Amino acid sequence: IEVIGAPFFNSSGDLRGVVLVFHDITDLKRVEQMRKDFVANVSHELRTPITSIKGFAETILDDEFNDPNLERKFLSIIHKESDRLQTLIQDLLDLSKLEKEAFDLTVQPLMVTELLEECIDFARLEADKKSIAIETEIIPDVSIKGDYPLLRQVFLNLIYNAINYTLENGSIHVSLKANESWIKVSIKDNGIGIPQEALDRIFERFYRVDKARSRNTGGTGLGLAIVKHIVEGHHGFVEVESELNKGSIFTVTIPREQVEI
Ligand code: ADP
Repeated sequence: IEVIGAPFFNSSGDLRGVVLVFHDITDLKRVEQMRKDFVANVSHELRTPITSIKGFAETILDDEFNDPNLERKFLSIIHKESDRLQTLIQDLLDLSKLEKEAFDLTVQPLMVTELLEECIDFARLEADKKSIAIETEIIPDVSIKGDYPLLRQVFLNLIYNAINYTLENGSIHVSLKANESWIKVSIKDNGIGIPQEALDRIFERFYRVDKARSRNTGGTGLGLAIVKHIVEGHHGFVEVESELNKGSIFTVTIPREQVEI
C-alpha cells in the first residue's frame, strides 16, 4: 500500500487534521512483477540454445578438432538448437500479437469438421513415430464462423501436446460435438497427466510441469498461453481435466457465430 498524507489548517492557521490517501498498488506491483518475470524467462529461454550453438561451433572451429563423426553430430545439435530458437521467436511474436488489446480475428465461415480432420492427418505423422493411435468421433459438416489459421493453431497445439506427453503405444481421442450455438472439441490422451496443483498454471506463459521433458519435445512453454488467447478471442473457453499417470482431456468450447461485443 502506498500512503500519501497532507495536513490541513483552518483560516487562522491552526492544524485541523491530516488527509491520508491510501493507494492499493498490489495489482500494479503484480503486473510489474509479471513483466519482469517474463523478460527474465525470455532471456533465459533464448540464452540456453545460443550458449549451446556457440559452444559447439567453437569446438568445431578449433584447430585441434578433427573428428568428422563428432563434427556431424555437433552440427546436428546446432541445427536442432537453431530450430528451437526459430520456434521460440515465432511463438513470442504470435503471443505478442494476441496480447494486444484489440487483436483482429479474420472471421469467415469455415468447416470445422474439415479443419479438425486436416489437423489430425498432419499430426498422425508425428503420432506414428511413437506408435500412438489417434481415434476420432467427429460429426460431419459442422460449420462455424471463426479465424481459420488461428483455430488451426489451437487444435494443432492441443493434439501435439497430447502426442508429446503420451508414452509410446498410447492413444488419443479427438471428438467434435455441436449444438445450434456452440461447438465442443475434446482432445483426450492416456499420457503422463498433470498434477492437480499445476492445472491452474499450465496456461501461464513459460509454465511447464517438467522443464526438461518439455524442452526435449521441442516445447517452448507458450503453446497453451497461445491456445487460451485465441479461444477467448473467439469468446470461448478452454477446460482441462487430468489425472497423473492416467491422462488428460482438454476441451475447447466456442460459439458458432462471432457476435461483436
Ligand atoms: P510446452 O511447449 O512445454 O508443451 P504448453 O504451454 O503447450 O508448453 O504446455 C505447458 C505445460 O503443460 C507442458 O510443459 C506440460 O507440462 C503440460 N501439458 C500440456 N499438455 C499436456 C498433456 N496433454 N498431458 C500432460 N501434460 C501436458
